[in-house]
Amino acid sequence: MATNRTFTMIKPEAVENGHIGAILERINAAGFTIVAMKKTALTSKKAGEFYAVHKERPFYVELVNYMSSGPIVAAILEKENAVADFRMLIGATDPSEAAKGTIRSEFAESKAKNAVHGSDSDENAAIEGDFFFSAEERF
Ligand code: UDP
Ligand code: MG
Repeated sequence: MATNRTFTMIKPEAVENGHIGAILERINAAGFTIVAMKKTALTSKKAGEFYAVHKERPFYVELVNYMSSGPIVAAILEKENAVADFRMLIGATDPSEAAKGTIRSEFAESKAKNAVHGSDSDENAAIEGDFFFSAEERF
């Protein structure tokens, strides 16, 4: 069954470059509301767990190192058709392929340092939201 929630992170380089406010503005303007949000950091162990699905991929070690290199902003977002609409809003993984006007086309530095995470399915949105937030932290 489709849900109306997705999960996002503003990744370390976007936080470092001062883009938290601008990215949240885009997310709000696109009609998403914030169910839960926190500025936090992933240890390399936690980053490895979060991206465990990519364990066999050549970029896994680089990804884990990068995602634990500095603070991130994690959030659960709500909107009708949240998962698919958020993937549209952020654009392709590689910013050179991301459509003009998408968050990644504007804020990403590279295919690895691509500014934001967005869940790829309702099932993963629920798993990823649970990774960061308790029931008491959702409003
Ligand atoms: N990634 C990378 N190199 C690649 C593919 C992915 O560094 O060739 C990183 C990138 O930060 C990406 C993350 O790994 O966002 C997860 O990859 P995925 O294929 O799930 O892309 P996404 O769903 O984030 O668009
Ligand atoms: Mg993905």
